[in-house]
Amino acid sequence: MGMNLGFLKYARRTSQSEEPLERIKHYNEFHLYLSNEEQAEQAARCMDCGVPYCQYGQNIAGKTVGCPLGNLVPEFNDLLYQGKYKAAYSRLIKTNNFPEFTSRVCPALCEKACTCSLDGDAVTTHENEFAIIENAFDSGLIKPVHDIPRTGKKVAVIGSGPAGLAAAAQLNMRGHTVHVYERSDRPGGLLMYGIPNMKLEKQVVMRRINLMEREGIRFYTGKNINTKRKADDIVAGYDAVVLCCGASQPRDMNVEGRDAEGIYFAVDFLTSTTKSLLDHDLKEGTYISAKDKDVVIIGSGDTANDCLATAVRHGAKSVLQMQRHQRPPLVRSADNPWPEYPNIYVPGYGQEEAAVVYGKEPSIYGATVNKFIKGDDGKLSAVKIIGMQSVKDAKTGRSSLKPVKGTERVVPAQLALIAAGFTGAESSIVKAFGLTSDRRGAVSVTDGGYSTDREKVFAAGDMRRGASLVVWAIREGREAAREVDMFLNGYTNL
Ligand SMILES: Cc1cc2nc3c(=O)[nH]c(=O)nc-3n(C[C@H](O)[C@H](O)[C@H](O)COP(=O)(O)OP(=O)(O)OC[C@H]3O[C@@H](n4cnc5c(N)ncnc54)[C@H](O)[C@@H]3O)c2cc1C
Repeated sequence: MGMNLGFLKYARRTSQSEEPLERIKHYNEFHLYLSNEEQAEQAARCMDCGVPYCQYGQNIAGKTVGCPLGNLVPEFNDLLYQGKYKAAYSRLIKTNNFPEFTSRVCPALCEKACTCSLDGDAVTTHENEFAIIENAFDSGLIKPVHDIPRTGKKVAVIGSGPAGLAAAAQLNMRGHTVHVYERSDRPGGLLMYGIPNMKLEKQVVMRRINLMEREGIRFYTGKNINTKRKADDIVAGYDAVVLCCGASQPRDMNVEGRDAEGIYFAVDFLTSTTKSLLDHDLKEGTYISAKDKDVVIIGSGDTANDCLATAVRHGAKSVLQMQRHQRPPLVRSADNPWPEYPNIYVPGYGQEEAAVVYGKEPSIYGATVNKFIKGDDGKLSAVKIIGMQSVKDAKTGRSSLKPVKGTERVVPAQLALIAAGFTGAESSIVKAFGLTSDRRGAVSVTDGGYSTDREKVFAAGDMRRGASLVVWAIREGREAAREVDMFLNGYTNL
């Protein structure tokens, strides 16, 4: 343990964010991080408590708290407090291949379970992790590992999101030859196209990909493995195949007027902005633009919030986000005690920005769109909104959200973005490999593991688990690699 009673001496302090009116002028990350000395003080707050819930992801009351990767949180906090960056880095990468991603985009399930937050503020583990990994990059600690003894076995990884990258990194370290096939023009999955540059700058993704390439992994972009012939060729050409194709089938809305021009899925909107940003700094107008439009975003969570932030940067005339559920309370309710996941309201960065730019809170709760209204030209002109409320079924006792008659109203909209979640893996990929999927749309696997119905084909990440988080995708990639290694070698030390 670092500082005895450090949590009493120092108050929690996190990075400052650039002011909303300034940061919306660009698409870059906007956190102003603490100095090394300040971060060490924050690390000193870690109590090294007897039962560190932070370092083990477990399901409590239906939600995960604690790190799904099993990050050795008290250990690296202590080493950071002592200024032992190299040792802290070596602890961190024992369990996490890509701390530079998780320390930027993870919702920090570790902090939700931190013992300090039982009666006070959690340790800043998320930003401690950032300090350790960025220091390791800056100080040249991270170098490509060469001369890995090769096993002569070849593995194909399909999909280069965090799950595919983690599987590839682990298998490569074990000496297997790894080829990653990606259908997009750039590798990274949702880290590249999905999560906006403001949350994760794309050079951070490429920094890791370049490192992996220098370690011997080959990336083939623009390769869509979506037909039986292509799938069969891949299976025949490799000793094992790991499918990490995500859960990119968006949930649609079965609502009147859905065919109006101007309605898009959120990921398509976000992807078009990032691609234009990277290709030509948004100068060629090839992206779905929100400029001067009334924008309606249907859905909650990260994706909806990213749409808000992006629409604000485009220069939308107005933004409105609709969430079916009621707004959660500001503090934990009595039936949601620590260490359960705190079901509380924390405004997202996009919500904060929209509130400042348009002078009012952009989100309405307990509401959805029940009609898209189009003009004679077929273009979206407005949406009809209806209130929703939770109604308990007298027979089953189960609650569900039902529309409330008489609450309808019409608001102008020329752009609608559907951020209503995902229904699972794309069926074309599942079919191409001759696999089956379960009722959640996730690829079926054997005994809760990673092997699929097809010999030597494995699946991991959102494709196996359903739409989730980067941290879970990394864990899945690591665990799948372990199973593949076992399959190839008959034993594993991964
Ligand atoms: C807008 C948005 C914001 C998010 N924000 C966060 C966040 O802040 N924090 C967080 O933890 N999580 C966030 N998530 C969730 C997170 O990004 C995912 O859980 C994670 O990326 C899943 O990783 P994956 O590797 O399983 O799949 P993906 O990242 O989806 O990668 C799958 C890859 O497979 C490729 N592929 C698919 N089919 C084929 C094929 N047939 N042939 C070749 N390649 C193929 C795809 O092109 C893609 O590159 C967000 C998700 C979205 C949509």
